[in-house]
Amino acid sequence: MSTEGRSRVDLFEYQARDVFEKHGVPVLRGVVATTPAEARAAAEQLGGGTVVVKAQVKTGGRGKAGGVKLAHSPEEAQARAAEILGMDIKGHTVHRVMIAEGARIAEEYYFSVLLDRSERRYLAMASVEGGVEIEQLAVERPEALARVAVDPTVGIDAAKAAEIAAQAGFAPELADEVAAVFQKLWTVYTEEDATLVEVNPLVRTEDGAVIALDGKVTLDENAAFRHPDHADLVDRAATDPLEARAKELDLNYVKLDGEVGIIGNGAGLVMSTLDVVAYAGEAHGVKPANFLDIGGGANAQVMANGLDVILGDPQVKSVFVNVFGGITACDEVATGIVKALEILGDKENKPLVVRLDGNNVEAGRKILADAAHPLVTLVATMDDAAAKAAELAAAK
Ligand code: GDP
Ligand code: MN
Repeated sequence: MSTEGRSRVDLFEYQARDVFEKHGVPVLRGVVATTPAEARAAAEQLGGGTVVVKAQVKTGGRGKAGGVKLAHSPEEAQARAAEILGMDIKGHTVHRVMIAEGARIAEEYYFSVLLDRSERRYLAMASVEGGVEIEQLAVERPEALARVAVDPTVGIDAAKAAEIAAQAGFAPELADEVAAVFQKLWTVYTEEDATLVEVNPLVRTEDGAVIALDGKVTLDENAAFRHPDHADLVDRAATDPLEARAKELDLNYVKLDGEVGIIGNGAGLVMSTLDVVAYAGEAHGVKPANFLDIGGGANAQVMANGLDVILGDPQVKSVFVNVFGGITACDEVATGIVKALEILGDKENKPLVVRLDGNNVEAGRKILADAAHPLVTLVATMDDAAAKAAELAAAK
């Protein structure tokens, strides 16, 4: 469901989970991961049993799109995360997954509270037929969706919560427990200045616990002054942080879902580098991690900036520097690489495969050979360099 309003912030599911937890709404443990390896570590951290790997994108229907998958071991969590990270769900690229404790679901319910602007009050909705998309339920089985007006001066107190539970058709033996959860969700709504709090599904587990398994929270940013902590929840321009950093540095960079970082001069050369790395990577199970064209006249600082952005991508395991000397000759480029590694210093530990060709190539290769940097491998041809970079990425 969406709400109107000029200034609103939708939270990611993992952020909604945190906010729920803060206000005592029963949730399962969840850990965010941005790489398959982190997903595996998260699953281990959660005890090594069954977990759910969940795409963190600000759109519903992730389950149907293949963005919510069960995993029965840390190895499986890693494999499922590798499938889900980078996936496109309704135009949203998945940059993060949440590894959540697995629940044994007996039943799925629905609950939401939102601002009903036209009536100048709040509206709570609940159903014992949750899990499905609520728009669909509202159209196909409107009688199954209870709609209960909430007086702003009273809110969802014990009596209102009981009324919502009864209207939604919750069994009497369950009513007290779900009503208690509704009241806590109301606390989230008012104390966080939300305009929407939605739980779908709210579940009953096989051992009888009632848990909010998926939450959506929209905050009213007009009230942000009351919540300095909300600033951390805003997804600045919803862009990839690496792309934002590249933009600041004036670099032509596009983040992709892969392990081999790529840096080259000239858009055509970088495009064909992506192709050869994708091809060479097949044998090693790795893919290009990005597009980055540092342009024709790149100096050492531009090379350092480019490497810094690429190496800041936790998914990157090796980097392929593919340069064709033209206006900027190979010796200058080689000096640039050596200086860039100096600038980056000790924090750098990912292997670099360098292929130089074109103007002054011999002088350039000599500079790199003389520098003998432990992370740098010089390879003569583009195909061989791509294969080397893929092999190094897979070995990490
Ligand atoms: P959505 O599709 O974006 O709304 O994502 P949800 O988080 O609601 O997950 C979709 C569906 O996946 C839920 O309705 C559940 O049926 C299922 N699911 C989510 N978490 C779990 C879990 O911990 N265990 C089990 N068995 N199923 C889950
Ligand atoms: Mn859901």
